[in-house]
Amino acid sequence: MIEIHNLKKSFGNLDVLRKVNFSVAPGEVVAVIGPSGSGKSTMLRSLIHLEEVTGGSIRIQGEALVEDGKYATPAKIKSITSRMGMVFQHFNLFPHLTVQDNLELAPKTVKKENAAEIRRRSEELLAKVGLADKANAYPANLSGGQKQRVAIARALMMKPEILLFDEPTSALDPELTGEVLRVIKQLAEENMTMIIVTHEMNFARDVADRVIFMDNGEIAEEGTPEQIFGNPQLERTKSFLSRVE
Ligand code: ATP
Ligand code: MG
Repeated sequence: MIEIHNLKKSFGNLDVLRKVNFSVAPGEVVAVIGPSGSGKSTMLRSLIHLEEVTGGSIRIQGEALVEDGKYATPAKIKSITSRMGMVFQHFNLFPHLTVQDNLELAPKTVKKENAAEIRRRSEELLAKVGLADKANAYPANLSGGQKQRVAIARALMMKPEILLFDEPTSALDPELTGEVLRVIKQLAEENMTMIIVTHEMNFARDVADRVIFMDNGEIAEEGTPEQIFGNPQLERTKSFLSRVE
């Protein structure tokens, strides 16, 4: 479903991704962990074309977003990236729109769907993330955990086949992380394909099928949560885990 081959990204002479290879199967949940600056966000942003890579290939459901450093046509890029949704650390909600309008904006403007169908889905998804009563609230009046649940519902409005999370709980007070992680866990149980960059090691252990440890622009080690957390092979994996756990 997602195949990444020899992915490279440089900013000037800084090599941020150095031959990254991995794949994600349909319904799989992959947690990406690693030190600050190791390239986790850059890798995730490259998948959805928020960054252009310097080399390598990304295939989504068999279609090349970029092949050997050469990008597909703009129309093709749009069609491929529209199958993915992304949730950011800082929510990125539109502050001047109500919760419901945040959810409905993209389906109305990008997908040009029927308004009644959009309303049905926004109500269903707000209920799913436990925020049915906040439809008319503005983001400024929500807690961080509520904002992040709105951001997840908004991403789901576009019916993505793949969801990418970049540290969805890092901006939250500890007591608010649970409500967000519960929503993500429910999506995992519904077999949503997800890549989750996270510092929540217990969550990664609990929800991920596979854990990828990135260090210095490469995948240093990957395996099941039992392997990575229970029996890491590399010294740098051990050292990272001893610092964060
Ligand atoms: P963190 O855990 O802190 O979020 P990360 O693993 O997500 O870190 P990235 O954000 O992918 O790391 O950054 C990897 C490297 O690329 C860092 O050295 C960062 O400074 C650099 N970098 C990222 N974006 C840019 C940019 N737009 N211009 C120049 N350098 C960048
Ligand atoms: Mg990051």
